[in-house]
Amino acid sequence: MRFLGTGAAETLPNPFCDCDVCAGIRRDGEQYFKRRSAFQVSDTLMIDFGPDVIGAAHQYGIDFCSLRNILFTHSHDDHLSFPNLSLVGMSQHRFQEPIHLYFSPEAFGWVCRNIAAYNPDFQFSLAEEGAAALRFGNGNAFRLHAVPCGVWFNVDEYRVKALRSSHPSWGEGELAWNYLILLPDGRKLFYACDTGRLLPETLQALKDAQVDILIMECTFGSRRLEKNCGHLDAYSFLETLEQFQSLHVIRPDTQVYSTHLNHKHTFTPLMLQRFFDRNSDIHITVAKDGEVIL
Ligand SMILES: [Zn+2]
Ligand SMILES: [Zn+2]
Ligand SMILES: [Zn+2]
Repeated sequence: MRFLGTGAAETLPNPFCDCDVCAGIRRDGEQYFKRRSAFQVSDTLMIDFGPDVIGAAHQYGIDFCSLRNILFTHSHDDHLSFPNLSLVGMSQHRFQEPIHLYFSPEAFGWVCRNIAAYNPDFQFSLAEEGAAALRFGNGNAFRLHAVPCGVWFNVDEYRVKALRSSHPSWGEGELAWNYLILLPDGRKLFYACDTGRLLPETLQALKDAQVDILIMECTFGSRRLEKNCGHLDAYSFLETLEQFQSLHVIRPDTQVYSTHLNHKHTFTPLMLQRFFDRNSDIHITVAKDGEVIL
């Protein structure tokens, strides 16, 4: 598993910005630069496909020729890049089957209403309820699915359950999906980006999950956010971990990663790592772009 983008919508450093965080990251070095959201679970499965995923593929020497499925958390364009998806239509690699794209019903509705505007070559058609097809002239295709909340479904050899977050997005009434994933080797991954403070129904659904790997956004670093703002900061991140401990969502040996950092506060990634090291009994890794989880 590999992080391909651990930044928020702004990227870090934002090339148009010379704030203390952006300047600090330039001083600390390229290993702290952060692209927009994408996470590679395996060669066949990704979570989100943000605007910087092609640059990440080039830098890390990976390709998407075996990609079969992408789970989308939500419709914000730091997580979903239609121009990048359109590269499938320019490939000389012929996929035997469509690549499957999974969305919440609200994000699916938003995509269906907006996808045609992105590229005149998109051949988009609605299929049965909650499914659609996107085809290209070279014969490659995507199959889009709306997935319900709280129900296990199969994605090839993975079992996946979508859970509702408190992060509003562009679809009508859309709240981002978090994904609980049962990996083929039996480990559990919980991916919560973007998420905000967890809804009671989601905490209840996660009770006793005992996940092995937790990846969660910590977008606003040192800035104490209002409740219900749809993102986490370093303090609400730690409070959420406490909730997870008391509900046995995580164990003492769970690998915990923070991701999706922005610059609207005072912590560089290095400072956030030091903050977590000082203030948490659980080891938290501030994920870097390119970082691999075995
Ligand atoms: Zn985001
Ligand atoms: Zn900045
Ligand atoms: Zn978002």
